[in-house]
Amino acid sequence: MMKQNTSIQSFFPPQTSPTKALPRTSSPTPGDGFNSDELDTSLILAPRDDWIPPAVYDEYEIDSLVAGPGRIKIIGRIVNMFGISPKAKLPTGAKGAIHLVIKDNTDAVTIRLSYTLISYGLQLGQLVAVWAAYITNGDRGIFPCAVAPLYIRIFPEKDKSCHIRWLDGPGTARVCRKPLKYDSTLMSLKDFAQGGFEVPDAKILVIVKSISTRKKVTRKDGTTAELVKVGVMDDTSEAILSLWGVTSTSPMGWQPSQTALLITSPSLNVSHQNWLALTSNTFVDVDPIIPEAERLRAFAGQMIRRQHINPMFPDEEYKSWSMTKPDEHILYSLADVDDYARETPEEEFEGYLSMIIMELNISTLRQQNMLMCNECCGIPLYANMTVVKCKQCDEQVPLRINPRVIGRLVDESGCITSGKLVLSDHAWTQLLGRSSEELVQNSASTLKSVEHRMLHVRITLRFWWSARVGKLVIAEVLE
Ligand SMILES: [Zn+2]
Repeated sequence: MMKQNTSIQSFFPPQTSPTKALPRTSSPTPGDGFNSDELDTSLILAPRDDWIPPAVYDEYEIDSLVAGPGRIKIIGRIVNMFGISPKAKLPTGAKGAIHLVIKDNTDAVTIRLSYTLISYGLQLGQLVAVWAAYITNGDRGIFPCAVAPLYIRIFPEKDKSCHIRWLDGPGTARVCRKPLKYDSTLMSLKDFAQGGFEVPDAKILVIVKSISTRKKVTRKDGTTAELVKVGVMDDTSEAILSLWGVTSTSPMGWQPSQTALLITSPSLNVSHQNWLALTSNTFVDVDPIIPEAERLRAFAGQMIRRQHINPMFPDEEYKSWSMTKPDEHILYSLADVDDYARETPEEEFEGYLSMIIMELNISTLRQQNMLMCNECCGIPLYANMTVVKCKQCDEQVPLRINPRVIGRLVDESGCITSGKLVLSDHAWTQLLGRSSEELVQNSASTLKSVEHRMLHVRITLRFWWSARVGKLVIAEVLE
């Protein structure tokens, strides 16, 4: 699922002569950094980065940098990116410039990166090394990022004394992941939305829940920009983090229910409830190394699994449980299962249910092109196919039978609807008398008659209940 980050070798485009420029279809929008073509090509591998430092550069931690001349090298992660003011003067030959806020475990610094033709596949959270020959103090007039006032201007294509390089080799995963001024007093998403956003340096920790596709949006001032909406959650609330322009490609490597974001001083859009955005003073620590991130990840994993439109059959859990138990043939009623699960919430148990099929949605779902489903990148995918391509990550995603095929089952004591059941592939085949491959190939009339034949039929289900799964697991269907 993960898209490989652009490697260091791919950083610079072929060294063409100025008269043989790379083909371009449009020019960058001022203030947004890059146009969509540049963003789209930013992951295309370009030839190697063969820059060699022309002199000795001393490596510094960011908090020990001082303004003035001197060859320095720093290593840090990108915690924010934003365009320059449309009125700002560019160095001769530059087509655009972008601000990067780079942070290591000690402090942060603002880098102004000017460029001509380069498509930089810049991403929040990316580890980079920067070589420079001069550091400006923010008090010289420009304060692009008040919380990282030291300012380094680089234009690597023109000025060979400076450079920027991706670092993503083995062993870099944990480098510079420690948040600054961190004391575990995080604000909950709910508190943040209810007024906490006015607190200076408010920090919220969230887990990525979903990632939208990247869209071109016209803003209120008439300019267009790329936008990605990232659904985020903590254990109190949910929100949308909108990432515009140059930051909109960042979520490509993020994973729903896995990627943690520690966001310091985001802005809250008052017209949309719970819409977060970045300002020039925001820091985004991607997957910070803090215990709270682990805890929240576990919480989000459970939540998302429960809300998944088509949860996986818990094969491993079921197998390891059933191996230790004798095959008992106890017939339960739905009311018994309910009582037993409530009285002994820790208990896992297996048995049989005898149910009548009261409602099926095979034909309806076929008509709606929703016979099969799954989720990828936190987004539901439906089709009358066994595999479908995720528009977000371009992966081929296998689909399983939509649990809503079963509408309602009843016995003498109660009824159960599709959302409460998880069937194994084997149980689906037994129930429908066909595999999922056959199901999607069957004609509408075949499925209609299957549906008619199955309605009001009594079936026996072998079930397993476990609070860990939170659904009634159906291992077998017997007639
Ligand atoms: Zn995907």
